Amino acid sequence: KYVLGIETSCDETGIGIVRVREGGSAHEAGARHQLLSNTIASSMDEHARYGGVVPEVAARAHLEALQPAIEAAIAESGITLADIDAVAVTSGPGLAGALMVGIGAAKALAVSLGKPLYAVNHLVGHIAADILDPDAPPLEYPTVALLVSGGHTSLLLVRDLTSDVELLGETMDDAAGEAFDKVARILGLPYPGGPEIDRAAASGDPRAIRFPRGLSRASDREKHRYDFSFSGLKTAVARWIEQREAAGEPVPVADVAASFREAVVDVLVTKALDACAEHGVPRLLLGGGVIANKRLRDLTLERAAQAGVTVRIPPLSLCTDNGAMIAALAAELIAEGREPSTLEFGADSTLPVTQIQVAVPEPV
Ligand code: ATP
Ligand code: MG
Ligand code: FE
Repeated sequence: KYVLGIETSCDETGIGIVRVREGGSAHEAGARHQLLSNTIASSMDEHARYGGVVPEVAARAHLEALQPAIEAAIAESGITLADIDAVAVTSGPGLAGALMVGIGAAKALAVSLGKPLYAVNHLVGHIAADILDPDAPPLEYPTVALLVSGGHTSLLLVRDLTSDVELLGETMDDAAGEAFDKVARILGLPYPGGPEIDRAAASGDPRAIRFPRGLSRASDREKHRYDFSFSGLKTAVARWIEQREAAGEPVPVADVAASFREAVVDVLVTKALDACAEHGVPRLLLGGGVIANKRLRDLTLERAAQAGVTVRIPPLSLCTDNGAMIAALAAELIAEGREPSTLEFGADSTLPVTQIQVAVPEPV
């Protein structure tokens, strides 16, 4: 069976085609399901002059990109549209207008092909990306998952990909990627800020300035043990720069970038490994576009090795938003014999991570 996945929750129009491997279990080695194509059209350049994703612009871009992206994904997969056995789509969380474009297309495609539709959770899709990695050892449960992107910073406890995902904590304000973008802007660097800060940080000293680690005080331990906050850090960077400028001193951009990056990465890795320790889980899965940050990957690997935690990092093309991960999650639902979604669902911009599939039919 073949699944076509549609992802439009943010600024990537992602179409992925996955071949379902039925029988066996997600615990087996190698790719659980076979990735046939993964086409991504991004409207990032259009958002660059605004310094962040503009919802209206993203929705319009999806509308233009969807049809060619579907055609490209089909062409690359080596199958035809008529071979598709099921359609999968992101129902949320994400930008409502952007989600609605993908949902409309998915419903139209499923109905016209006369095939079932699986409406799934974007965040759980990020975890499902892992089961497409042909080089990874089998996924074991439970695992802690850290998802970091421009829109999300979430720490999850995954007991089962298709039935049991628990939210341990999330950001209370800005997402980690958003913090990179905003601090880049303060430093006068272009959007998206992540790669720019990385470049600037390369020649800087991460210990030059001690920026705050959000929600890491002893008093935060009870209520916000696994939550994140990056807006205070952003303000601290802005204030530090203002003071330098007021004193007529030059701003050491490389040191600011390196110290800021260290503050973000330190708190992400510390909380993720704390979650592993507290839950007795020696496994950590990373996902989301901020995984492109080499310092984040390196510090995770370094500290995880000390803690005896195994780290899984899917290929970067599967970490950023894409349709293949949505198809992968649906493929796993299909392999388990789950019913498709009914057509009565829409965009849910705040869909909780515990809702893995939406519009699940009532059992008869
Ligand atoms: P969503 O939140 O729905 O996953 P998104 O489009 O905001 O969507 P991604 O495309 O996964 O997220 O990631 C983009 C974000 O990752 C941007 O905020 C960007 O600055 C950040 N990013 C990219 N490369 C790096 C890097 N090397 N270091 C830090 N952040 C990075
Ligand atoms: Mg993006
Ligand atoms: Fe995402």
